[in-house]
Amino acid sequence: MPAQCPVCGQSFEPEPGFYFGSMYITFGFNVATFLVLGVLIYYLLDNPDTWVYVAIITGVTVVLTPLILRYSRALMLYLFGGARYNKKWGRG
Ligand SMILES: [Zn+2]
Repeated sequence: MPAQCPVCGQSFEPEPGFYFGSMYITFGFNVATFLVLGVLIYYLLDNPDTWVYVAIITGVTVVLTPLILRYSRALMLYLFGGARYNKKWGRG
């Protein structure tokens, strides 16, 4: 990960250990994933054995981990790192 955005200069590490807090956002995403999958499995698969819940939720969580990690860090930057969306730059 670069030290700052090559387009707008936004610092990607405003202070040491900045992303420690994104752990809590990751936790939130994961709890949401567990809850949604749990309810879906319960209704779509008619409440199967516990191992089915464990297997599906573990598999999906592992697959989603890179995505959740990046979104958590991005959210952390937007919430506490002073990052602002700017239409002029858009997706660079
Ligand atoms: Zn930028």
